[in-house]
Amino acid sequence: MNNIKIIKSKRKTISLQIKPDGNIELKAPVQIKDAQIQEFLCRKSDWIEKHLQTVKERQKQISQIKPLTIEEIHDLADQALEIIPKRVAYFASLVGVTYGHITIRNQKSRWGSCSGKGNLNFNCLLMLMPPDVLDYVVVHELCHRKEMNHSSQFWAEVRKILPDCEKQKLWLKEHGYEIMIKMTA
Ligand SMILES: [Zn+2]
Repeated sequence: MNNIKIIKSKRKTISLQIKPDGNIELKAPVQIKDAQIQEFLCRKSDWIEKHLQTVKERQKQISQIKPLTIEEIHDLADQALEIIPKRVAYFASLVGVTYGHITIRNQKSRWGSCSGKGNLNFNCLLMLMPPDVLDYVVVHELCHRKEMNHSSQFWAEVRKILPDCEKQKLWLKEHGYEIMIKMTA
C-alpha cells in the first residue's frame, strides 16, 4: 500500500486525494476514529486502486520521455525564430498593442514572458505544441501589454481574441510538463 497521510481538521466530511507521486492524502474531521478511517478506505478501495493505476501509467510515460539533443533544440529554436514573430505580428494587431524585441529562449521554467517595456520572450519548446496552444501563449503575453497581471480584465482581453482559451489552458496544464522536461539545459 502507498503512504497515506491523514490530515485532521475542523471539517465535517472525509475527502480523499491521490497525489501525482502516488501518495494518498485523506482529510478528515478531528473527532474521527481510526476504525472509521479504515472503513472509509475499505469502501473506497476500488476507486483508490483505479487511480493508483493511472498514476503509475503516467509515471511510466514520463520516465520514457527522452530529453532533446542539442541539435534538436537548435532546430526548434530555428523554427521558433521563423514562426513566432509572424504569430506575434498577427495577434498584436488584433489585440491592438505594440511590442519590442522578441527573444527565443531554451528554458526549463516558462513558456513566455513580457517585460514592462514590451519585450517578449518565448520558449523554443512551444514548437512541440499544437498550433492553437502556441497561439494562446502568444496572445497571453501580448495581452500583458494591456494588463500586467492575471486579473479578470486580463482574461477578458485574452477571451476577446481566443474565446475558447480554456481548452488551450487545460492542454498546457495536462501536457506542458511532459514537454518542459524534454529541455535538458
Ligand atoms: Zn501571464
